[in-house]
Amino acid sequence: MIQDDLSHAADERLAAVRERIARAARVAARDPADVTLIAVTKTHDAAAIRPLLAAGVRDFGENRVQEAQAKWPTLRADYPDARLHLIGQLQSNKAADAVALADSIHSVDRPSLIEALARAIAASGRAPGCFLQVNIGAEPQKGGCPIADLPALLRQARDAGLPVAGLMCIPPAELEPAPYLALCAKLAREHGLGGLSMGMSDDLETAVTLGATHVRVGSALFGARP
Ligand SMILES: *Cc1c(COP(=O)(O)O)cnc(C)c1O
Repeated sequence: MIQDDLSHAADERLAAVRERIARAARVAARDPADVTLIAVTKTHDAAAIRPLLAAGVRDFGENRVQEAQAKWPTLRADYPDARLHLIGQLQSNKAADAVALADSIHSVDRPSLIEALARAIAASGRAPGCFLQVNIGAEPQKGGCPIADLPALLRQARDAGLPVAGLMCIPPAELEPAPYLALCAKLAREHGLGGLSMGMSDDLETAVTLGATHVRVGSALFGARP
């Protein structure tokens, strides 16, 4: 009964988010299929996640390696084609665990982390797609590399053999996101990067119209986090 209620609410929210993505894609003359919806499941347990898996969602985002390790091995046993994206700030000493677990890492933002990831990839033979996170609003408390450091970081990542998929950004809260999202899209274009991980519950339409290939959506799918 409780599982049924969860499923019903999840189906409605999922349909609404998919419709938002589709409408924004149409406005920009893009194919909605070119936008990957990543359901951000941080703080939500397996019972909340299963309805989305049952509804066909296959891309999921977690912020913390430890939390992901606790939830995802069991869920993946039932859904081997589920893909896990790590989207939170990553300590270099968690690089090996991250590489073992994730299909993509969206928070690659400094030389020491690139070195640690390259070692973990070499040791394990697994190579998650890597998004370089840019601190697009130059906010001191946020992760991401300064815009000025991006060319050197990208060169280092490519030289180290990391599979660089694209750029990721989180625009400043409380400010109009469009200029920041547009700047991130421009940086990706300038560096020949196809992947663009941007857009969350509140700004996903803007992100999709500006070229996002991966939107990371939590609260619009699950309700407000506790
Ligand atoms: C939590 C989180 C999201 C999802 O945010 P919502 O506003 O709940 O959609 C996206 N990206 C990152 C990096 C996050 O930490």
